Amino acid sequence: MNWNRRVTALLGAAALLMAVRFPVAAQVPQTERPGIPGDTPKPVPAGDTSAIAKEAEGWLSDLIKINTSNPPGNEQIAAMYVVGILAKDGIKAEILDMAPGRSAVVARLRSAAMADPSRALLLVAHLDTVPVEKARWSVDPFAAVIKDGYLYGRGAIDDKGMLAANLAVFIELKRSMAHLNRDVIFLATDDEETSGDASIRMLIAKHWDRFAAGFAINEGGNVFLKNGKVQYTGVQASEKVAFNVAVIARGTSGHASQPLKDNPVVHLAAAVAKIGNYSAPVHFTSIVRRYFEGLAPLEDDEIGKWIRSMDTPDRGEHAQRVISDASPLWNSMLRDTIAPTVLNAGVANNVIPAEARANLNVRLLPGDTIDVVLSDLNKLVNDPLVKLELQPNAGLAAPPSSLESDFYAVISKVVTQEFGGAPALPFQSTWLTDSAQLRLHNVQAYGLVPFPLNQEDLKRMHGDDERIPLASFDKGVDVLAKIVSEFAVAH
Ligand SMILES: [Zn+2]
Repeated sequence: MNWNRRVTALLGAAALLMAVRFPVAAQVPQTERPGIPGDTPKPVPAGDTSAIAKEAEGWLSDLIKINTSNPPGNEQIAAMYVVGILAKDGIKAEILDMAPGRSAVVARLRSAAMADPSRALLLVAHLDTVPVEKARWSVDPFAAVIKDGYLYGRGAIDDKGMLAANLAVFIELKRSMAHLNRDVIFLATDDEETSGDASIRMLIAKHWDRFAAGFAINEGGNVFLKNGKVQYTGVQASEKVAFNVAVIARGTSGHASQPLKDNPVVHLAAAVAKIGNYSAPVHFTSIVRRYFEGLAPLEDDEIGKWIRSMDTPDRGEHAQRVISDASPLWNSMLRDTIAPTVLNAGVANNVIPAEARANLNVRLLPGDTIDVVLSDLNKLVNDPLVKLELQPNAGLAAPPSSLESDFYAVISKVVTQEFGGAPALPFQSTWLTDSAQLRLHNVQAYGLVPFPLNQEDLKRMHGDDERIPLASFDKGVDVLAKIVSEFAVAH
């Protein structure tokens, strides 16, 4: 079937699906909502976003109901839903097919007849989500249940929340007929969670001309709520790099009634135990150094003192240990991490296997090299029966985004104003985002999920009972609208 006919057929199917599943734009009932403390009520400013935020809550609910668990993703239906929402406001979006059933969406609001990609601003979010362990959820993860002011569902934060917020801001720009001083481009990517063959890497390779931009805002950073107040906004300007390494133990297979010393299960277990207890040395990247400098005065005196001591010759090592023990996030920002994630051995209960394998998920600080880590781990394991093998699809280190750009300054100014003076800190995420690929194409990409979230809610991303407080969602839409307006609208 040719491309056009296929799209027409699919759009027809999507319209039908929407008519069946979403008879009216989902109406989100007004329930009790936890407020965002520290967010003191202000007179309604010009460009009030409360109406569009309500609409976007409905889009978010609809998007949660379209299951895009990756694998397999099946983002095409969500892509068509997004195209339909944009079309209602007269915005013509393009579906970019990446693989059967997998698509991205791009749309553009022009500032001038001729595009200037170096000035353009890209709003990025991904359509896919990680899978769920349904039995561990207290609600149906794809029903968009609203309870106590929270919207529950896989993707509520990561990344359908951001996707709905981007849609809201983009559509509001169009509705208000804003006079843009740069093109604003909406991009919904697919296959972000597994970074596979349908991901942004391929999207850039095939369609870069459709969304080439100098600046981007994407997921990756967070507005951190602590004790009910925004403590700081982490604006992601860099991220760690992921690798997988196989640990392979080989020995003699045979009858379990007469075990030998080279049992690979035993050698693998010993190697994994050593690796699991290993802590790589601390390296400060420039962004992490700036982050901790900004963080020290925001923490209590005790933690603040240890943060300031981390880089001193006498107490540095001890301070690094205290800070690493205080937070898994901080630990991982300071060093390469190596996490055993998969074990594989054995064919039967009474047979010693010839081989036992484990997978290590390694996250390197940008600038560090995997060969050094492998050599350190080989020395640590020190077992001729155990080999380490780097697996394909290694991550690529990207240069950090500039902390001196106009866009970083705008983000920093707006979030500080909007979150009661809580500062913006440059952030190096331990997790991966599409931004690394953008940075490799000279895009100044910044990560900011603009919704104020506490640890309790943040840890549900990729976990069970993912949810977003609707008050945080609305606030995030408003903050994102202010950032984009300040940067891209002629005043
Ligand atoms: Zn994500």
